[in-house]
Amino acid sequence: MTPAFPHLLAPLDLGFLRLANRVVMGSMHTGLEEHPAGLGPLTEFYTARARGGVGLIVTGGVAPNQEGALSAGTIGLTSPAQCAAHRALTDAVHAAGSPILMQILHAGRYAMHPQCVAPSALQAPISPFRPRALEEADIWRTLEDFVRCAQLAREAGYDGVEIMGSEGYLLNQFCAPCSNQRQDDWGGTPAQRQRLSRLVVRQIRAALGPQFVLMFRLSLLDLVAGGSPWSEVLSLAQDLQQEGVDIMDCGFGWHESRIPTIATLVPRAAFRHHIQRLKQHLEIPVVATNRINDPTLAEELLQSGVADLVSLARPLLADPDFVRKAQAGQPERINTCIACNQACLDQIFVGQRASCLVNPWACHEAESTWTHTFAPRRIAVVGAGPAGLSCALTLAQRGHTVTLFEEQAAIGGQFRLAQQIPGKEEFAQTLRYFHTELTHCEITWRLGQRAQCADLLSFEHVVLACGVRPRQPLIPGIEHPLVVSYQALLAGEVRAGARVAIIGAGGIGFDVAEFLTHQHPGADPIAAFEAFWGIDAKGNAQGSLGPASVPPPHRAVWLLQRKPGKPGESLGKTTGWAKRALLQKRGVHTWSKVRYLAIDAHGLHLSVDDVPQYLALDTIVLCAGQESRQELLAPLQQAGVACTLIGGAWQAGELDAQRAIAQGTHLGLTL
Ligand code: NAP
Ligand code: SF4
Repeated sequence: MTPAFPHLLAPLDLGFLRLANRVVMGSMHTGLEEHPAGLGPLTEFYTARARGGVGLIVTGGVAPNQEGALSAGTIGLTSPAQCAAHRALTDAVHAAGSPILMQILHAGRYAMHPQCVAPSALQAPISPFRPRALEEADIWRTLEDFVRCAQLAREAGYDGVEIMGSEGYLLNQFCAPCSNQRQDDWGGTPAQRQRLSRLVVRQIRAALGPQFVLMFRLSLLDLVAGGSPWSEVLSLAQDLQQEGVDIMDCGFGWHESRIPTIATLVPRAAFRHHIQRLKQHLEIPVVATNRINDPTLAEELLQSGVADLVSLARPLLADPDFVRKAQAGQPERINTCIACNQACLDQIFVGQRASCLVNPWACHEAESTWTHTFAPRRIAVVGAGPAGLSCALTLAQRGHTVTLFEEQAAIGGQFRLAQQIPGKEEFAQTLRYFHTELTHCEITWRLGQRAQCADLLSFEHVVLACGVRPRQPLIPGIEHPLVVSYQALLAGEVRAGARVAIIGAGGIGFDVAEFLTHQHPGADPIAAFEAFWGIDAKGNAQGSLGPASVPPPHRAVWLLQRKPGKPGESLGKTTGWAKRALLQKRGVHTWSKVRYLAIDAHGLHLSVDDVPQYLALDTIVLCAGQESRQELLAPLQQAGVACTLIGGAWQAGELDAQRAIAQGTHLGLTL
């Protein structure tokens, strides 16, 4: 029988190493690399993905020397004494069935410590440190450090290395005129700027021979002013192939770029045309990357010749068994990455261990306390939002008898609303996953039934995951018909007019502003994305930046908050800037230091920084936060029923799906 995903699941023979399938686990720094217990927890993390059937694993970045470490204390491989710990990791991953490459990453001017170095002494806009320009002798020493690091990687049992040459790290900095203004043999012409990358590959290949995988992560689009143009990228790729690279991995956008490349607002496989354009000029296998989170899409990319392999990073945080489920012909059981960045990159960028919003066990594999119950109980879960769903699923998987009440006809709670936001369509995947898994567990569904106290008295435990109700601010005239709730708007129960104010500029206020100003991208969402953000799709512009083309706004929108400061400061570190930039491009007015004075039939009386204003409006949308729904708690307690509050019903402030899913899962393990 033909497998469901014949191209994705086809082996790839490199001559000296056979990959079982075309799925590469892309490099991710998780924070486990610096775990005080050593590399044990990181080993558990990788072995779970190897057991899940991944064809090839690439580790997070490992520094070849101290000055190249991302920050003081991040992982490096610089001496033979460190090899034993890595050997235990590689042995375990091999035993679990996957080959593994170690990524060598020299951060250059992105290193967050004062010893950082770069081709030129030019500070990155996202770094507080000005780098020291490498002297000629330093460059030769750095080259030796790369080679020694690769040799140590082989000693430690890795099947090869990936050389990080993209995302704006050291080798990429050498290649681009904006960060390399050297006057010597390492700067000036494209060939001289690219010399270090070529020499790193040449010397590693010479030192390690042919039977050692050499993958290079090439920056196809730098997406920064003064970055390399496509012609230079292509000639470097061809040179690197000549020097002995076995597999070409693709990178998009430097960390300092102001164009989103992996957030949920980026269309799936948004960079496929650039990857295909590269593949046409190379003979070695090419890896497709960025916003590939689904086996059907991955299969189509391989089948249509876009690439030879696909790289999944965050999707393997979300579900370590992605490949196994694809092999079993059960893609609907995959817990899909929704590209929110909330629990992975946002946490890493503030120095915390990564995890995953939809899979709280990610990077906590060694701490799992999962046990099947020996004493099944009848448990009611009230509310089928993220907290209730995760709790119901964990309970049912452990063997409890679960009844799930939800007053709406469909599951999802706040997630069901969130999936209406353009760019958050992926949220539907999480609901599909929960629905599929709960159906497999055979719970009792009570959809469309608002649970009353009397319905719950016979259960041994009641989990109250009833969610939130929107806060109604005390503004004179708030009951006026032009005032609507965000729920009614997103659920399609009301429509907004041409002039709209949003009261409250938190996560939901931003989402509603996006919803209100969105214009249909037309038949080609990737072309619309490139035009909106100014990506030079076909030409040869420096850094692949072109003129942006933003459709004229069809609606005037004001996003308001009472506090001082920039609206959106509390949004995620790796996505907040893109959301702010998006609304700014669409002409949304963001006002702080607002006082709401009154609402009348035609608009909103307010003051901004104590200056009175009047906004004539058609619609006012309330996004002023939430209040917990706890009305069942007291009657159940009085009736002597054991119950627990979780999610928004427990705490509405900072209402957050990551916390809700983690809380639901953990409660499900303890009952
Ligand atoms: P929120 O982030 O707490 O924002 C509520 C907004 O309402 C604030 O801007 C607040 O600012 C304003 N507000 C509070 N009380 C008010 C009152 N009495 N009158 C007028 N304005 C008032 O809540 P949310 O927007 O409902 O979002 C809830 C949670 O959902 C977030 O915390 C987040 O965890 C999650 N979420 C996240 C995202 C994301 O993109 N990461 C997106 C959606 C939701 P002022 O007090 O300054 O006016
Ligand atoms: Fe994907 Fe969000 Fe999980 Fe990160 S936290 S892996 S982006 S679902």
